[in-house]
Amino acid sequence: MPTAPKYIDLETTALFLDVDGTLLDIEDHPGDVRADPELVELLQQLLMHLNGALALISGRSIAEIDRIFDNVHFPAVGAHGAEMREVNTVRAAPPSQPLPAHVLARITQLVDDHDGLLLEQKKGGVSLHYRRAPELAATCRALVLEVMPELESDFRLIDGKMVYEIAPRQHNKGEAIRQLLKSHEFEQRQPVFIGDDITDEDGFEVVNALQGISIRVGGGSATVARYALDSVADVRAWLRSVVAANHSNTKSRRTNVDES
Ligand SMILES: [Mg+2]
Repeated sequence: MPTAPKYIDLETTALFLDVDGTLLDIEDHPGDVRADPELVELLQQLLMHLNGALALISGRSIAEIDRIFDNVHFPAVGAHGAEMREVNTVRAAPPSQPLPAHVLARITQLVDDHDGLLLEQKKGGVSLHYRRAPELAATCRALVLEVMPELESDFRLIDGKMVYEIAPRQHNKGEAIRQLLKSHEFEQRQPVFIGDDITDEDGFEVVNALQGISIRVGGGSATVARYALDSVADVRAWLRSVVAANHSNTKSRRTNVDES
């Protein structure tokens, strides 16, 4: 797969960025992930060059995204699209079916019974993390496979990186990107989406269909993305180089205007 294109014009781009595994390395405990000031500043520069056409797109809740980014409220999509916030507006996505209480109780019981498992509850779904107890992968898998058949009409199972997620079927990152592209800041721009995990594939598909640029971080599983970057460090280096190139382009355009 080719590496990400050297240059993109931020004046005509809508940039969508996954968070965990894309902008920040994955930690054993998802609550330990926190952005450094350099990353916050990089995103602010991007937001400025993009005239607001930037959104963080995560499986996490928007409250969690805000915690990670030190309460700088970037435009964001949370819980795969169940929550959406653009620069100045919070849009409520259509409500989804709640997870049945007895299913939630069974998963909670499993987490209570085993050290190292972590339950993340979010709008409409749950994530069962086993990163700190990889030996429990099969136990977790057995439970989610057992509860899925009765949920299948409203929920889908996402087999993520050391996490099983039961998420509302109606929300996915591709749909969220499609929705955002209809709004004022994003319309008429070429979508660029960077992500690293299985839930990002929906986003890649939509972006490919719209002649955008899909970039997958790291290898590990099949992808429909057309470009690749190796690591979080490479994503950040690429974003920095894009900002620098756009910055000097803007400057040279200004110089041309001044001279004419
Ligand atoms: Mg990710």
